[in-house]
Amino acid sequence: MNHETSRDLYDRALSVLPGGVNSSVRATQPYPAFIERGDGGHVIDADGNRYIDYVMGYGPLLLGHDLPESVRAAIQSSMSDGPMYGAPTEIEVELAEFVARHVPSVEMLRFVNSGTEATVSAVRLARGYTGREKIVVMQGGYHGAQESTLVAGDAENARSSSPGVPQTFAEHTIPVPFNDSEAIEDVFETHGEEIAAVLTEPLLGNTAGVPPVEGYHEFLRELCDESGALLIFDEVMTGFRVGGLQCAQGKLGVTPDLTTFAKIIGGGFPAGAVGGPAEIVESFTPAGDVFQSGTFSGHPVAMAAGLETLRYAAENDVYDHVNRLGETLRTGIADIVSDRAPGYTILGTDSMFKLVFTRDGATDTDEACIAGYRQSPDSECFDHCPKTGADVESAETDRWDRLFRPAMKEKGIFLTANQLESQFVSDAHTDEDVEQTLEAYKEFFE
Ligand code: PLP
Repeated sequence: MNHETSRDLYDRALSVLPGGVNSSVRATQPYPAFIERGDGGHVIDADGNRYIDYVMGYGPLLLGHDLPESVRAAIQSSMSDGPMYGAPTEIEVELAEFVARHVPSVEMLRFVNSGTEATVSAVRLARGYTGREKIVVMQGGYHGAQESTLVAGDAENARSSSPGVPQTFAEHTIPVPFNDSEAIEDVFETHGEEIAAVLTEPLLGNTAGVPPVEGYHEFLRELCDESGALLIFDEVMTGFRVGGLQCAQGKLGVTPDLTTFAKIIGGGFPAGAVGGPAEIVESFTPAGDVFQSGTFSGHPVAMAAGLETLRYAAENDVYDHVNRLGETLRTGIADIVSDRAPGYTILGTDSMFKLVFTRDGATDTDEACIAGYRQSPDSECFDHCPKTGADVESAETDRWDRLFRPAMKEKGIFLTANQLESQFVSDAHTDEDVEQTLEAYKEFFE
């Protein structure tokens, strides 16, 4: 494959954009592919190379790059009426009604413009509603580029995870290991009355999709109910993907107090939302006194794209299709690597899938370590898993970054930059795409 144009564009970008990109994960080495257009389940780069795309915009593109006619028409009609007004529109009410009809925890929503804005607003809402300040987050979770959750370490040693995030934020955020009921119970014993919310992804989509162990979310639900803290599910990634229109909470059978959305809810355009019972969500201004506002919030084009995407998914067999292809990929990759790869685990559920390289001998039970590694690469987890006792170097990111992802790209398979980022199947992917993908994995391991 020739990548000359992408290389030249990257050189140009490096002098006007920090790191050459506008979101850090896009800066794959030695240079990223600059994408010119999408086509179904594929992307075509500036040099004309075609790839089967499993990045899918990092999740929003449930229907693929070529939107169905109904979605396209709704977007075009909204655009031809003018971009936005700074006044209420019917389409935002319709999307809110649709979401409230399908998602168990949602009675009322406030729309925002991104996943980060959704989690910022949810945390403020929880603090304002409960009158408490601390939040508990999971090691290995990700909730966007916001101060309250850019915190690493553990309950005894929480620290800001980025220069520019004041240490005072870490004083109000308590990271705990995902799936460890004892650890969070200890935290509630000490701080129970100060905790405004437990904020967690239903499954750790930002650690390749580590699933909850049985009963974990039920335990969180009880803990929150007993202490008066709110349970917030961050469904920015899983929302309208895992568990279909009911989202991951429907699949898991646990209803949080608040839910954050983004990605699919905007149908490929910037949108996010915080949802929950009216009693809590009405604490937002102007109904209540927890300040929240946004010039672009409820943007008509994004609302139209989101609503028509979800309607299309409801009326067609989108979830059956993407989940079947996701399962074929997970089992197909597992068959290929089982006697070839020195250490691996396959994560993901429904239409999310990821092959994660681990040190020799690491097994699925080391997933907690993989999550720990993501949060604190310098922690004990790196060499020795305190939870499972296994000796694992949790996730061999180097093997992914330098060897596997670039090799797959040359075979026409476009995978996420970091091995702990989930990958996504869209409705536009075909059986042939999946067959070709598995063939490429097979060739690599041979
Ligand atoms: N929460 C989760 C679970 C996410 O996966 C992401 C982004 O990937 C975010 C929040 C942040 O969303 P955004 O990038 O739209 O700000």
